[in-house]
Amino acid sequence: MQEGTRYFEARMSVLNEGNSIIAVIRDITSRRNAEDKITHQAYFDSLTDLPNRALLHDRLTQLLHEARRLSFFVGVVFLDLDDFKLINDSLGHETGDKLLIDTALRLKDCVREVDTVSRLGGDEFIILLSNLTSPKDINGVADSILNCFEKPFTIDERELMVSASIGISVFPGDGDNTSDLLRNADSAMYHAKAAGRNCFSFYTDSMNQEISRRLAIEEQLYGALDRGEFEVYYQPQFEVASGKLIGAEALLRWTSPKLGSVSPSEFIPVAEQTGTIVALGEFVLSEALILAKSYTVNLDDFRIAVNLSPRQFRDANLVNFIQSKLDDAGIKPERLELEITEGVLLGGSQHVYNTLKELHSLGICIAMDDFGTGYSSLNYLRKYPFNILKIDRSFVNDMTLTNNGSELIKAMVGMSHGLQMKVIAEGVETPEQFAMLKSIGCDNVQGYLFGRPMPRKDFENIDLVLPAI
Ligand code: C2E
Ligand code: CA
Ligand code: CA
Repeated sequence: MQEGTRYFEARMSVLNEGNSIIAVIRDITSRRNAEDKITHQAYFDSLTDLPNRALLHDRLTQLLHEARRLSFFVGVVFLDLDDFKLINDSLGHETGDKLLIDTALRLKDCVREVDTVSRLGGDEFIILLSNLTSPKDINGVADSILNCFEKPFTIDERELMVSASIGISVFPGDGDNTSDLLRNADSAMYHAKAAGRNCFSFYTDSMNQEISRRLAIEEQLYGALDRGEFEVYYQPQFEVASGKLIGAEALLRWTSPKLGSVSPSEFIPVAEQTGTIVALGEFVLSEALILAKSYTVNLDDFRIAVNLSPRQFRDANLVNFIQSKLDDAGIKPERLELEITEGVLLGGSQHVYNTLKELHSLGICIAMDDFGTGYSSLNYLRKYPFNILKIDRSFVNDMTLTNNGSELIKAMVGMSHGLQMKVIAEGVETPEQFAMLKSIGCDNVQGYLFGRPMPRKDFENIDLVLPAI
């Protein structure tokens, strides 16, 4: 529809046995405009004016015909913004909408005229790359798409940093019809999210297996807590200098009747995403305090360590719940340690900061878990109230293998002590590692060498002092 164009319809009738002709000419501009508008609405997204799902399907079908005839590759790029929901929830839908419009503009700038940028809905975009002579050509495009998010978006005078995760499937290798290609690009996008987001993944055959496993876990996780399928195991922690038992880490175990025993590394991320982690976390804390209670009688400095994941911090009731559980159990806050990873601190939300401060001021111990694996930002250690630094087991594993490995541990111990934090090494498996940690001055240890995670009954039978190792 061209702005300003007028449309006319002419009808001619012959009258008087051919002696007269009547021509009726009508201005049908408004009808034509209305029809064009309806067609446009059926094929274009009203917010961004990009092709919508229906037009995307048409274009991809068309493109696949051509690609078969002319033997070129087609790239299907599935893009999903990271944490868009957070922006929508915290800054409002209007801001979210403006961000989507700006994203659409940036994406269009990243690709050639012949490519299609479309919006599937929500914060999901699909880009079709046509006429490719090699799938490798997609790498460059994917890089420039990710790069186009490096500059902040300015929306209502506010600067917003947003990243995106991208999954890619390629015709003909990853599917020869629209639905397979779109589904596989979607799986690859999930993979990119799991790989840490702000990156792209090409589809591989194993991804669909991963996705079906994930779905099975999600399905079985539903109601599993009420069905009594969870149990908390405890792994002992010892003080290096005295060999005394000083605490335990509570670790969740799940035995599903359908899937068998599933590792927490597999089900915790799913529980995080579905929100089930909040109820699971409450279960772990309640159970863990029962164990702690039985120990505080004999060991007055026994401390129970419980893992807290990022989603639990979004639960407004977290502090109250912990406080009331401690009160009910009659346990001093000092006897509880909460282990958090850098994932909780990423994004630097004020709410997380306030929550940690609040927990800390109650007297609860805060430990930085898996130290050394993520960003290891020293700024976090300065800004947040940590009492304990937990050296990740990958460093402990390396320490006796390379000189650098042991130097790193020395540096972490020195730095923690300088900041008035205690250090615990996890994943200690050999006497050599233990000896080295002792000579370096590491305060506490945890690992298979001293005890695996075990049910409460077994834990209650372990020695309170380490046998000489
Ligand atoms: P994490 O917090 O780093 O927990 C330590 C993991 O190391 C545990 O794995 C433990 O069994 C394992 N481990 C302990 N000693 C050794 C050792 O000497 N060698 C080796 N190779 N491994 C050792 P697990 O129980 O499979 O837990 C995996 C992760 O799942 C945990 O990592 C934690 O991030 C998460 N997780 C477990 N339970 C909970 C929970 O109740 N809540 C939350 N939010 N996360 C949990
Ligand atoms: Ca932990
Ligand atoms: Ca850890």
